[in-house]
Amino acid sequence: RAADLLAPGPASVILPGGEALEFWANVAGPADAAAAARAGAFGVGLARTEMLFLGRADMPGEDEQEARVGAMIAPFRGRPVVVRLLDAGADKPVPFLALASEENPALGVRGVRALLRRPDFCAAHLRALLRAGAGHDLRIMVPMVTFAAELRAIRDLLAAAARDVGCEPPPLGAMIEVPAAALTVPDLLAASDFFSIGTNDLTQYVLAADRGHKDLPGFADAGHPAVIGLCARVCRDAGAVPVSVCGEAAGDPSTARLLVEAGIRKLSMGAARLSALRAAFSASAS
Ligand code: PEP
Ligand code: MG
Repeated sequence: RAADLLAPGPASVILPGGEALEFWANVAGPADAAAAARAGAFGVGLARTEMLFLGRADMPGEDEQEARVGAMIAPFRGRPVVVRLLDAGADKPVPFLALASEENPALGVRGVRALLRRPDFCAAHLRALLRAGAGHDLRIMVPMVTFAAELRAIRDLLAAAARDVGCEPPPLGAMIEVPAAALTVPDLLAASDFFSIGTNDLTQYVLAADRGHKDLPGFADAGHPAVIGLCARVCRDAGAVPVSVCGEAAGDPSTARLLVEAGIRKLSMGAARLSALRAAFSASAS
């Protein structure tokens, strides 16, 4: 029952080797965040901002963005909250960005590629997130990074937004969901304060199968050795820079076990998955 799925519990467990494994939450709106806070998540590992924008013909103004993101993250005041910049394109259509229709949108102008085509929008978006995150332990995450230059461009926009708002720029991190990014973490390190592996897209791109393809469900498997091997490589190459996983795989106990063996110590999932993951790892820890 839903009530049991959201039963409160510890935000982390100690693994047999003595390290902590943290359970974070993915949220896409205020109800998710309230549920995640009740369930005792360590923090928000992925706040999706798409709900503000999907299907919108008009661009939501800065005040509206601030209010709606602020309402979403309110239950996590005092806890770390990772807000992802708008991940438009591919499976997430955002009409006001007027992205051209594409033959192959999963390989097209999406995520940071779309943001950098609209620096005006991106600047307002960043200012709204900074305002919404005042009083929070805010971090900002960039979707679909391929090159360090994309991160540096967002960092410049973030610095300008922070000057406008009158705050310090918060930590900025790259999502690792493009195989090229997973393979070049040493190049991204100087521009990224943390990494979060998006196994949904990373799996799609590594196994060359649309993540939602109805005839290829067996391909949507982040437990494939090629994906797990990339995750291990990211953990190794990231050194002391934190790495989390925020794809669906984080909420699946058997795949999560492989991710932990690969070196992941932060798993971010839908709130309803937290109790199953706690149970799986508490059993192994004791
Ligand atoms: C992912 O790709 O794993 C991810 C978390 O992002 P989304 O599912 O929103 O594309
Ligand atoms: Mg993704």
